[in-house]
Amino acid sequence: MNKYQIKCVHCGTVTPSFALWFLQNQCCPNCKSKHAEVEYDTDYATLPSLLTGKPESFWHYFDFLPLLDKAHIVTCKEGAIPVENWEFLDKYAHDNFQVDCRVMVYRNDLNGGTNTFKDVAASLAASIFKETAIHNFCVASTGNTATAFSKYLSLAGVKFTVFVPACVSADSVEEMRSWGQEVVIADGDYAYAKKMAAEYAIDNAVLISAGNIDPIRSNGLYAGYLYSGSQRRNRADCY
Ligand SMILES: [Zn+2]
Repeated sequence: MNKYQIKCVHCGTVTPSFALWFLQNQCCPNCKSKHAEVEYDTDYATLPSLLTGKPESFWHYFDFLPLLDKAHIVTCKEGAIPVENWEFLDKYAHDNFQVDCRVMVYRNDLNGGTNTFKDVAASLAASIFKETAIHNFCVASTGNTATAFSKYLSLAGVKFTVFVPACVSADSVEEMRSWGQEVVIADGDYAYAKKMAAEYAIDNAVLISAGNIDPIRSNGLYAGYLYSGSQRRNRADCY
């Protein structure tokens, strides 16, 4: 049985793996939407056992991350993000909507490792690419995402091409290049860099980040609301 599946937000069509998702050019085979969420087959009754203690790595949540084999994990001390019970929201839901639930929140600015949540997303992306044998990826970025992805994709053996706006700092560009990745400085703003990246992706048949709705990104960065009680679902929203 597969551990997870990717479900289109718009029409509900299911794609059973990231390997297929990439073959479909990261979109729904039915309605072509790129907005999808990951659902897990993992028994949600096991969830409370993951919420205790202070994990050192976000891979502590492996059972609820879209990777099949731990051997494919690409990690570099990016830290963990504790899941917190926000009791004031439990109370708010009860008092205002008569909903009895526990609101568990995964806040992406609390990782105690490298202190940049982009490293967490990059670790997940690099691991998924390693598992699905993806060797090329590109993105348009203003700096932070691209710096993190340059490092982790390099560790995963993925050739990464970054399109940055002209205003990006020289330090950021040097750091990306220090990982052996290719940086293209657009002669314009971020919108122009995104246009260049999109054209590059099509011309060279290279996967490109779909931004905030990308299920790779959202599962690495999400503010996950893990409801229990009268409602239970794992929601992978953008951060
Ligand atoms: Zn669809």
